[in-house]
Amino acid sequence: MTSSDGALRVLDERFRDLVPANAELERLWTGGEWVEGPVWMPHENALIFSDIPNDRMMRWSDAEGARVFRHPADKSNGNTLDLQGRIITCEHLTNRVTRTEPDGSVTTLVERYRGCRLNSPNDVVVHSSGVIWFTDPPYGILSEREGRVRESELEGNYLFSFDPGTGLLEVAATDFERPNGLAFSPDESTLYVADSGSRRHIRSFRMTKSSAGLTGGEEFVRIDQGVPDGFRVDVGGNLWSSAADGIHVFDPEGALLGKIPVPEKVSNCEFGGPEGRDLFITASTSLYRVPLEVEGALWSRFAT
Ligand code: MG
Repeated sequence: MTSSDGALRVLDERFRDLVPANAELERLWTGGEWVEGPVWMPHENALIFSDIPNDRMMRWSDAEGARVFRHPADKSNGNTLDLQGRIITCEHLTNRVTRTEPDGSVTTLVERYRGCRLNSPNDVVVHSSGVIWFTDPPYGILSEREGRVRESELEGNYLFSFDPGTGLLEVAATDFERPNGLAFSPDESTLYVADSGSRRHIRSFRMTKSSAGLTGGEEFVRIDQGVPDGFRVDVGGNLWSSAADGIHVFDPEGALLGKIPVPEKVSNCEFGGPEGRDLFITASTSLYRVPLEVEGALWSRFAT
């Protein structure tokens, strides 16, 4: 990145080990309205992501470019893969978390807590035990653009865990304003969860043995431009967060190593590409890619 508006912001020399000095941010596609929820499909060499206001999911690959993957898509938002490589999706319009089966059919995993409709599941991650962790802020019930306006049926905006083996849905944390993106540390000892409300921070929880057992929850980092939405963690435990001005990269202790400026407000990012060393970035209306020197923490799950 040599241009003045696209130059990497190196705040710590270790950042140079993560992003090539000559790395160029490439816009792969534009034409969305608010794109989110990128998930890399290693067996297809393709990226799935959501375009929430346009009520569609998109599929992008180097070979074929971008096309509509699903429409209507119930205003889907965050996506991830389960241990079998099936897409797990958060849907605003239907307040549910779904699984897309190999034949393309969609299975509802969870949509209610104690009889009450969830707000609008936002983002999701799968633990190596198979337990699904997701956040449930109200963005999909606050506007018609992102969902459908209605009253919340819950007392708050929770972090949930759901075990698809037992069907057990548990509230893991209640003290969020707007719980949003989430990711595990490489050894899964820590769960990071963003709060995109006024606190603008990412919190750090320690995992315990029980499925919904968490301790801690202290502030890990605060985002100084906009709010943290989605984020990912690399194999070294560095955290790659969305922010209003680009991607902010933090080391496992929370030190800001550097920034990758992006010309549109960033919603989320995802590791992918043939070696797992490309960072795909969903930002407002467009999908971007930047080559890295490091792969994502979940890469080994699906690498052959
Ligand atoms: Mg989000």
